[in-house]
Amino acid sequence: MSGDHVRNTGAMWASPRCGAGTRSGTACRAPAVHGKARCRMHGGAWRSGAPRGNQNARTHGAFAQDGIAERRAIRALLDETSKLLIELKPDCGPEESVG
Ligand SMILES: [Zn+2]
Repeated sequence: MSGDHVRNTGAMWASPRCGAGTRSGTACRAPAVHGKARCRMHGGAWRSGAPRGNQNARTHGAFAQDGIAERRAIRALLDETSKLLIELKPDCGPEESVG
């Protein structure tokens, strides 16, 4: 550079970086597109990627949020039912072993 001009690139380098893997095995480190985790070349470009709520890649849904919430609700209901049954008939608790 010419003269005594000081380049202030700190704010530029503080921006979020793309973490996509490159062919050399390192992270991309190009600036990520605003509001996205990837740069313009790795899926951050405007209108790239699947639309929100896309189900095309869903295989079984075992780890989907709605599936987890459903199982949690069923588990809570079963626990509540078990407690109610123990309250109604205390001698038939789960800790009692029947041989
Ligand atoms: Zn990138």
